Amino acid sequence: MKLPSIAERLAGNRFHLDEECSHITIDQDLARSTGTAERIIAACPAGVYSLSEDDSVLIEYAGCLECGTCLAIASPGVLTWRYPRGGFGVQFRDG
Ligand code: SF4
Repeated sequence: MKLPSIAERLAGNRFHLDEECSHITIDQDLARSTGTAERIIAACPAGVYSLSEDDSVLIEYAGCLECGTCLAIASPGVLTWRYPRGGFGVQFRDG
């Protein structure tokens, strides 16, 4: 039996988007000056972070897997991260 790929397994998750409130915010200046921007873009397994044309960090928080990796590797004070409000966020469907 062929096991599903990681992408296929992730696609089975459900995301309940809190359109009124992001659970992640970033200090743009500190993210650039500490090198955090590059680290979190490279490390996030869900591709939540990317760079805009003006080098600001974009946050597509709707796809967050709530793994905590970005918070663990960010320099102090760069990210404000908390779990989504009750009823919102990822709902794992496989494993
Ligand atoms: S908690 Fe995990 S999935 Fe969510 S933004 Fe941070 S690294 Fe990405």
